[in-house]
Formats: sequence, structure tokens, C-alpha cells
Amino acid sequence: MSTTARTRRAAELRAVLNNASHEYYQLDAPSLSDADYDRAFRELQSLEAEYPELRTPDSPTMRVGAEPVSALAKHTHLVPMISLGNAFDEGELAEWEERITRLIGDDARKAGYVTELKIDGAAVSLTYVNGVFTVGATRGNGIIGENVTANLRTVRDVPLTLRGDDVPPLVEIRGECYLPFSLFEKLNEERVAAGEPVFANPRNSAAGSLRQLDPGVSAQRPLRFFGYTVAAPGGMPLPFEGQWELLETLARWGIPVAPHRRKCATIDEVNEWAREVEHHVRGVLDFAIDGGVIKVDSLRLQDELGIVGGREPRWAIARKFAPDIAETTLLDIRVNVGRTGSLNPFAVLEAVEIGGTTVQLATLHNFDLIRSKDLRVGDAVLVKRAGDVIPQVIGPVPEKRDPANPPQPVEIPVECPACRTPVLRDEEEIAIYCPNVACPDRQLEALVHFASRGAMDIRGLSYARIEQLIAARMIHDVADLYSITAAQLLELDRFADKSSEALVDAITASKTQPLSRVLFGLGIRHVGQIAAQLLARHFGTMDALGAARAEDILALRGVGNTIALAVVAYFEDPSSAALVEKLKAQGLTMSEPASVVAGGAFAGMTFVVTGTLPTLSRSQATELIESQGGRVTSGVSKATSVVVVGDDAGSKLEKATALGVETIGEAELLRRAGGA
Ligand code: NAD
Repeated sequence: MSTTARTRRAAELRAVLNNASHEYYQLDAPSLSDADYDRAFRELQSLEAEYPELRTPDSPTMRVGAEPVSALAKHTHLVPMISLGNAFDEGELAEWEERITRLIGDDARKAGYVTELKIDGAAVSLTYVNGVFTVGATRGNGIIGENVTANLRTVRDVPLTLRGDDVPPLVEIRGECYLPFSLFEKLNEERVAAGEPVFANPRNSAAGSLRQLDPGVSAQRPLRFFGYTVAAPGGMPLPFEGQWELLETLARWGIPVAPHRRKCATIDEVNEWAREVEHHVRGVLDFAIDGGVIKVDSLRLQDELGIVGGREPRWAIARKFAPDIAETTLLDIRVNVGRTGSLNPFAVLEAVEIGGTTVQLATLHNFDLIRSKDLRVGDAVLVKRAGDVIPQVIGPVPEKRDPANPPQPVEIPVECPACRTPVLRDEEEIAIYCPNVACPDRQLEALVHFASRGAMDIRGLSYARIEQLIAARMIHDVADLYSITAAQLLELDRFADKSSEALVDAITASKTQPLSRVLFGLGIRHVGQIAAQLLARHFGTMDALGAARAEDILALRGVGNTIALAVVAYFEDPSSAALVEKLKAQGLTMSEPASVVAGGAFAGMTFVVTGTLPTLSRSQATELIESQGGRVTSGVSKATSVVVVGDDAGSKLEKATALGVETIGEAELLRRAGGA
């Protein structure tokens, strides 16, 4: 790059970054993503490092935050509030350790590090005079912040007085104000309803709430606070020598300190902590973090290492994680029809990387939510992915809509997208339903469920094969499966002699499955595996159940109103009654075998249930075991046949292992109870 080109590029980056900072810090409404901002910042930093003559006093690399907003009173910080340098991976963290080792030798390594969550909120400083909260301020430009005392008084985490007899006469407690996720989403929904733009992330929402001119507005947005450092006038003695001790002291004084902090002896331990936090902790927190902060523990060494460029300490670094909220475009809203007929909308997104994975689809739950968020196809939308949770669309960014040609609000379907039958909406439920049992989409899902392991367990009848059979018009409903011949299958792609026969055999074999599995397989609304077993055992035959009134069904322990009404409604519906008749005609077992009812799969066996099972409650598990002739006791002994183990099982599991008693999980219990 020529000198002129370099100068031009540096000026361009300064302009972009300064404009972005203005939008971010003063308007609380960034138009650039954090990743793009960080990329441009890095580029400018390395240009300036290589060619120091390019550095100008207005360079964002030389400054913290932005100038305070004029409408608020100013507050000069006792000691400047600084920012942090970033390490985006383990290599950059290793380089940081090398840099400080070059400066102070091995001392930092010997002193060890403290790791803390990097709360993605707004930095504030709380001044306590003789232990009493007197002034609260934003970071502002690091030297001067905005006085937001009245607003900070509404934050219930901020103690109005500090506890303890070692509180210095004058201290500033620094930390982060944040808005928990649950409240952030609620706030954005309210903003949409009020026609206001949504906040891009919890950090901007916290900053925006703090800088409200009306404390009444802040009070309605329950901000929270975590403290992480203390500033005092030079020479004032403080009751701690290291960062770890400092955090413990803060907690003792009554300041909330973020969880998951750790004292690490080496950078390897720091890396291990960061991996744990990024992959396991981050997803379960109710507040946003954008990384971890690594600090040299010793405060004496922190002083020795000092600050670079008035902006970043040398003794601490932010280990940034990939962002878990991203902006992308909502390309389409499609609807999937579930087996019970519910219309489930989902978002098709322009591919975007969130937290290290590419996201293209996100759940939208139901049409009420789409309406309340005012999502429109073509909108710029914010998408969140937390841990293993399915990606969710937080909301649109309405100010990005083209005012001349805005996208249109989403129409709530009045008919099923698959079969065009007018949809129904239950009074008490939010979902809308396709009532047509012959709807092709419903049938596909219904067939997949019928063939699944927990139901008829038809080996080899995969999703793709069911789709193929429907497309070939060989099947419409579950009963049609039993008419398929091997010769018919042979005519289809990807079916050979052996596979055709194997599938027909598997279908035929499923005819012997007991009533409980048929019932579950039919996919009657609200009738899960356990309810199906209870019903089958109690009524014995499909005919008896079909003739039962709601009150007969309600008499069963473990079966409530919803299930009873759903069962009655199912048999009253002529099309489902016809399907049951069709299955009967195909020779399926329409009763619960006597052996299962009387003797049972667990006859003569003694069980112990311990820990939390994934789906069954303790009493449901007991009922299931007893229904199969088994006995449930509380203590494990040599006489115990099987111990059913759930999460957090303790001494009973240990005893079972010591005695060599068989242990199984819930899935295996259900399988055996089902007679498999
Ligand atoms: P930063 O957020 O990267 O890190 C410094 C801040 O982290 C501190 O000031 C402090 O408030 C906070 N922090 C949280 N937990 C902490 C802990 N345990 N210990 C110490 N500090 C802790 O830096 P910054 O200067 O506040 O902001 C710069 C960042 O803001 C950029 O990297 C970018 O991601 C974002 N930004 C984005 C835009 C945009 O247009 N999108 C514009 C400006 C800034």
C-alpha cells in the first residue's frame, strides 16, 4: 500500500469507527455489528503500530467510549475508567502472557491469574462516601462520565450502604449494569408494541435504560449490577492485595459479584476455564457475556504493568467469544404441520454465524408471537442462540425497513398450507390447527410417529421411506402400511429384494404390538406413552376405550381432564373412528395382552428407583413397575433385581454397583415395560 493509500485508509477507518461509537455509546443504537467494529478497530491498530505517524489524537484506538451526553450532569472519575484489549483465541492469549513476561519476567506467571465473566452490560462507577452511596456515573469517555445517580438508585443490586468495618472513607466501586435476558426480550416486545425501535443487544438496552432522563423509566427496567473493581484516592490503604481478595471483599461489603470466577495458576488453566464458560456456562446464564476477563492477580504487579495509550491495561485482557446474537435477514416464514395438526411457523434466515455455528432456521413458536413481535418477511432481524437451545428470532430491526417500500405484516393462515382445509383455533390454546386427519403433512408426521421406536417400532421405516411411499401414493394413513406388498416396494427407487421383504416383515411383525403401543402410535392429542399404558391397562381393549365416557377415563389415577376429553373427542370423530376400524380389519392387536395386565413383564422382580428420571415422576415410575407385576422398595439390597437410575443418583447407585445389582435408565425401563 502506498503512503497516500495508507493515510486514506487510516482516515476512513477512523471515520467509520468514530461514527459507530457515536451510534453505539450515545444513541444506544449501533448500525455496525460488534464483529465488524472489532475487525475495523484491529486493522487501524495494526496500521498505527506499523506506521506510528498515522496515529492522530482523535483515533478511537487512543480513547475510551465516547463523550458524555450533554443533557446529563457530568461526573469526573476519581481514577479513569478504562477499556480492555482483546484476545480472540488461545494464541492471542499466549501472546499476551509473553508480552507481560517480557516486561516483568516470570512474576506474573508466579502470581497466577483471576478469570471473570465479561458481563456485556454498561460500565458504571458507584461512589461511596463513608460507606454511603452518593454518586453513580457511566464510564463516558473514561475521564468524565454522566451522573446517573437517580437511575442507579433504582437498581436493587446496588447497596445504598456498604457493610463491614474496613470500608475506606472514599471509594468508587466499578462494575457492570446489565439487563437479564428474560427482561431484555420483554423490553423489546414492549418497544415493538409501542412502535419504538428494538435494542440491538442487552448491553445497549442497559446503557439506554441507565441514561434515561426520567428515573421512573429506569425503575421500570429492572437493571442488575455486578462489581469487579475498586478505585480509591492514591495512598488510601485498601484491605486486599490481589484481585481474588478484592472480589471477596466486594462480596463481603454487600456488592454482588458475578459467579463462575476462578483463580488459575497457569494460562492452560485459563484456557480450560474459557472453554468451559463458552460451551457450557454461557448458554445457561440469564445475562449476556461476550467473553471472559483475565487479570494478573497481584495488584502490585498490576501497578507495575500499567496502562497502554490511556485506554487498555497491560495486566488484563478480554478473551472474547463468538457473539451469540447476530443480525440477518428474514427470508421467509414457513409452516410445518405437526402430527396433531398444529401449524408450527418457523423462520428461514439468510445464513449467519452465531456462536460458532451457521444458523439458517429458527423457531417462531406461534403466530401470536410473530404478530406481537411484528416480524415481516424481508426484515432485518436479530437472532439469538443460547447453548443448545434452538435459535430464536428476538425481533425485527424496524428502522432498517425501507420507508418507501416496507415489508408487509404476516398474514395468519386461515387454511392449512398443505391441504387448504380451514384452520381451527382452540379457545384456550395459542396454536392453530388443521382439523383434517387426511391432511398430507399431518399424515407424514403421523406415520413417522406411528413407526417410531416408542410406538409400533417398525424397523427400517425411516422418514425418507415414508415420504417416498406417500409420494408413490401407496399410503395415505397408518392403516395403509399393512397392505403394502414386497412386489410393490420393488418398483420403487432404492428398494431391492431383501430390503423390500425386510420392510414388509417388520410391518407385519408390528401387528403383535400391544394396545398401549397402538394407542400411543395413533398420536391422540395429549396421549403420551404413559397415558397410553394406563388407558390400555385399565380398559383392556380398544372397543372398551372407544366406548368410555370422559368420567370413566377420569376415574383413572394419573389421567386428567385434558387427556380424558382428547380421548373422547378422538373416538367421536368419524374419520379417526374409521381409521381405528381399518387397523382392526388389518389384524392389529387391539388389546393389552393378559400376561401384561396380570403377570406382567416385571412379575416377581423388586425395583428401586433413584435420582431424577428424564420424564417420569417417581410415582409414575412406581405405577408403571407395579402395573407390570413388579414391586418397588426404597433400599438397595442383594434381593433387589434392578435399580432404575436417573440424574443426580447418589448412594443407592453406589450401593447397587457395589452389590453388582443391575442398573438401568428410564428408556430401558419403558422398553421392558412395553414388553420388548
Ligand atoms: P469492551 O466491552 O470490549 O471491554 C471493556 C469493558 O468490559 C470494560 O469497560 C467493562 O465495562 C467491561 N467488563 C465486563 N466485565 C468485566 C470484568 N469482569 N472486568 C473488567 N471489565 C469488565 O470494551 P469497550 O471499550 O467497552 O467497548 C468496545 C467494544 O464495544 C468493541 O469491541 C465492540 O465490540 C463494541 N462496540 C461496538 C460498536 C458497534 O458499532 N457495533 C461501536 C463501539 C463499540
